[in-house]
Amino acid sequence: MQINRAQQILKNTFGYSKFRPTQEEVIKTVLQKKDCMVLMPTGGGKSICFQVPALLGKGLTIVVSPLIALMKDQVEALRENGVSAMYLNSSLGDMEQQQVMNDLVDHKIKLLYVSPEKMNSEHFFYTLKQLQISLIAIDEAHCISSWGHDFRPDYKKLGYLKRQFKNVPIMALTATADPLTQNDILQQLNLVEPVVFKDSFSRPNIFIEVQPAYKRKEKILEFIKQHTDESGIIYCLSKKNTEDLSKYLRDNGISSGYYHAGMEAGSRNRVQSDFINDRIRVVCATIAFGMGIDKSNVRWVIHHNLPKNIEGYYQEIGRSGRDGMAANALLFYGVRDYNILAQFNEEAERRVILNARLDRMLHFAESNHCRRKLLLNYFGEWTTEDCGACDNCKGRQFLFDGTVLAQKALSAVVRAKGKLSKELLPYVLVGESRPDVLAGDFHKIKTFGAGTEKTADQWATICNQLLGLGYLKIEYQRGSILALTPLSNKVLFEGAQVQLHLLNQKIERETKVAPKKVSHKASVPKTEGSLFEKLRQLRRKMAVERGVPPYILFSDATLSEMVSHMPTNEWEMKEISGVGNQKWDQYGQAFVDEIITFKNKGKRTKPAYEKTYDLYKKGSSPEVIAAQLGINLITVYSHLATLYQNGESVDIEQYVMPYEQMEVEEILKGNSKATLQEVYESANKAIPHHVVRLAMVLAEKN
Ligand code: ADP
Ligand code: ZN
Repeated sequence: MQINRAQQILKNTFGYSKFRPTQEEVIKTVLQKKDCMVLMPTGGGKSICFQVPALLGKGLTIVVSPLIALMKDQVEALRENGVSAMYLNSSLGDMEQQQVMNDLVDHKIKLLYVSPEKMNSEHFFYTLKQLQISLIAIDEAHCISSWGHDFRPDYKKLGYLKRQFKNVPIMALTATADPLTQNDILQQLNLVEPVVFKDSFSRPNIFIEVQPAYKRKEKILEFIKQHTDESGIIYCLSKKNTEDLSKYLRDNGISSGYYHAGMEAGSRNRVQSDFINDRIRVVCATIAFGMGIDKSNVRWVIHHNLPKNIEGYYQEIGRSGRDGMAANALLFYGVRDYNILAQFNEEAERRVILNARLDRMLHFAESNHCRRKLLLNYFGEWTTEDCGACDNCKGRQFLFDGTVLAQKALSAVVRAKGKLSKELLPYVLVGESRPDVLAGDFHKIKTFGAGTEKTADQWATICNQLLGLGYLKIEYQRGSILALTPLSNKVLFEGAQVQLHLLNQKIERETKVAPKKVSHKASVPKTEGSLFEKLRQLRRKMAVERGVPPYILFSDATLSEMVSHMPTNEWEMKEISGVGNQKWDQYGQAFVDEIITFKNKGKRTKPAYEKTYDLYKKGSSPEVIAAQLGINLITVYSHLATLYQNGESVDIEQYVMPYEQMEVEEILKGNSKATLQEVYESANKAIPHHVVRLAMVLAEKN
């Protein structure tokens, strides 16, 4: 029952016709007041999981979010959809904070975003205690774990929530957590019998590619030139890199800026805002940039340097293509970067684990296996399928049947009964009686010396591949020993084949320099003068007027659906994914007009509503105008409304009955900001939409 209402909210408020499968399951769980953890890739649609339940019940939904920019973005997007959302964090002054608190107590807010610091403050806690809270959502929940890569001490304190708000369901959400981090989240939040939803982290729309760091600048410039008009982020290791690269791009005619932690807040905010609002195309940044960026039309991410670990890398490339449309991730790696990063780690407390993660990153970069398979296995998804959409799947694989080698390595791990480390495995296989091998009694196991056909170095390469491909894993919590995975048994007992390569990595690092043509993949239609381009310009113009980023108005995916369906009236437009009621009211007609104008281009030259006006002046009725122009009757009425608003002498009163006008004005008296849909519903849907529209226009003039 309630799920039907949830469905309606999804359609009317967010403009989506149906839930994605996991969203629906998560929402059902929340309605049963159960705790849950939601693991979904970026762009998977996590927000809907708590935003829709928030609008279902009476109470307040709290969303804990780590970054001010992230909160602002989500709140803006919600408000554009007509939802009463607000945030509370250190960016607000005391007066503004007090205003939010008052609104909370007056039940004027359905969704409140808060920083973890705020959530942990005593004053706020006592206010919350007095309110009815229906759900607490913890976004970017991996920040709670020091295993994770974005650890935030204030997140660690959130464990108290479950004790203090016993009957309120808690939802933890993240797009980036390896199995260790996942467990940590559940435990630290004290979730009670949590239901865990785990979508694949796979992002099939992102084409993944790795290249050696040779002539990086030139390759980057070429890549950007090929991706005309697309926005992207370039992650660099150092502040200086960001500045130099940005200058190089600007000198070559690309609008770009740089962003790093050493800049003052004002300049940082300006660059971020220029990027979000499509005033610059490229940002060269350190990893300080981006966690708070929800911009859905980032079309590519380039790593100028090797990232520190796969979690970070995956989160960064995940910032491209959030709208689900084609995107590109290009990584450059060189041994120098590796050495620099390893040196940073030397001074760190958790050196061993940091280095292990860095090594996995390097193996990923150097690998000839399907990149996506390596990534998904890293996140514990145990998959053997090639993706078909990465550089290695498209070519460049030199693989051979390594099943027997894999079987030898895996059985050595089994026979060593959970004591063997990655470092020792090669020596056990080649049968080298080193002191550490003897000390572990490994010379007594049956596989000792079973792999003399390869050298210890080659076995080390094989072992790294078995890790990357998910046939082995390292248990860091148990002394970093090797262990089997669900995929291992298939190799040991079910005859599954394993493909390996035997490239000597040391030689590879020095010789793998042949420049390869950067792949080029069409993502969005964008020829000059195309409808997509026109809609993009309109979006930009309206976004500027409205003071919100363009992608919050409509995503690239929504625009592209408009291009393929060419809706020319309200009903068709509302069928487009991402066009809810409020979006239609605020922007829909302008986009419809643009589409109609485009359709009529060549046939007619004037804007669509002027054609209507010409016929109207000749005395044609709306029905006749619709028939003559081949457009919908409702569109004719909205043209007339537009003309009236533009001050043309159009008598729209004749289409509105006096009692209808009175009723609409009565409703507007109660709520002067009511949207078309709200008025329509308040009038019990007895007055047709187009009449409501005309009456509202008339009321405005009075
Ligand atoms: P996440 O927070 O998981 O990164 P978002 O909540 O930002 O993802 O959603 C990603 C994109 O998918 C957004 O453009 C969003 O509007 C869209 N989206 C979410 N749910 C649906 C749905 N049920 N149908 C269509 N589009 C959806
Ligand atoms: Zn692949």
